[in-house]
Amino acid sequence: MYPASFEYLRPSTLDETIRLLVEHGDEATLLAGGHSLIPAMKLRLALPKFVVDLGRVADLSYIRESGGRIAIGAMTTHHALESSGVLRARCPLLPETAAHIGDVQVRNRGTIGGSLVHADPAGDWPAAILALEAEIELAGPKGRRTVRADAFFVDLLQTAIAPDEILCEIRVPATPRSVAYEKTEQKASGFALAGVAVVVGSTGVRVGVTGVGPKAYRASGVERALAGQAAPTGEAIAQAARHAADRIEALGDIHASPEFRVHLAEVNTRRALTRAFGSR
Ligand SMILES: Cc1cc2nc3c(=O)[nH]c(=O)nc-3n(C[C@H](O)[C@H](O)[C@H](O)COP(=O)(O)OP(=O)(O)OC[C@H]3O[C@@H](n4cnc5c(N)ncnc54)[C@H](O)[C@@H]3O)c2cc1C
Repeated sequence: MYPASFEYLRPSTLDETIRLLVEHGDEATLLAGGHSLIPAMKLRLALPKFVVDLGRVADLSYIRESGGRIAIGAMTTHHALESSGVLRARCPLLPETAAHIGDVQVRNRGTIGGSLVHADPAGDWPAAILALEAEIELAGPKGRRTVRADAFFVDLLQTAIAPDEILCEIRVPATPRSVAYEKTEQKASGFALAGVAVVVGSTGVRVGVTGVGPKAYRASGVERALAGQAAPTGEAIAQAARHAADRIEALGDIHASPEFRVHLAEVNTRRALTRAFGSR
């Protein structure tokens, strides 16, 4: 299956990319790893007249630590995140999450920036990004701005990014090892039926959930139930996990009913909390 015809543009700097987005408006689409965009173009769900390839734009693929925070370029692949020594030592939730994404081919091409902007309700990164309270940096014609992870995901396949902006960097805090990502995947694609990321930090526990509702979310009911507990019992964790899908309108499809997704959210929350608290 071939996509409809389009013009291929290959800028080499961020400024040039922004100029192209401004010039071509909503007829232009950015291309990162292409693992979501190209299938959408082949299915005629996306029909861009101009495809602007980020592949040659300088300095969009890196993992750098400075001052207790780690900065990740948007074009960093899932594989680079999975295999990064810096992340394994300083933010192990990211390599653990990356290892759950698709297969080797997907991880070699797909990027964290493309995943976050695509905002697939079953994508893995949003859960980890929410639990880590990441900052997302966007660049556009008016300059740069930073959006907090919990304000970035707006709805199904919708984020806070404007059409003339580029996601250029994600910043996460260095964390201790008390983190976990537990997921039940759709067997053919690997996408999450319910994926739960947990970070146990000095200020409490943070829980990000993907695959269940139209967008990834923080399970604030779970976080509140465990507030102030440094070493909750198994029973306290099980009680808290029951709030994993509070006030969420769960999705249903041929792979899992809404009720089953809610059940998986609770089970994976319990497992992720147990592992994260257990590794303190
Ligand atoms: C077979 C298969 C299995 C998969 N399994 C999983 C899985 O288990 N878990 C999972 O999470 N994902 C999975 N994916 C999706 C994969 O992770 C994709 O790589 C990801 O969703 C999109 O990233 P990309 O770099 O390919 O982006 P693209 O497909 O190139 O782009 C996606 C969208 O983001 C926009 N975009 C890209 N980069 C930027 C940027 N820097 N700034 C602004 N806009 C940008 C594009 O314009 C486009 O609209 C799977 C994909 C396939 C094909």
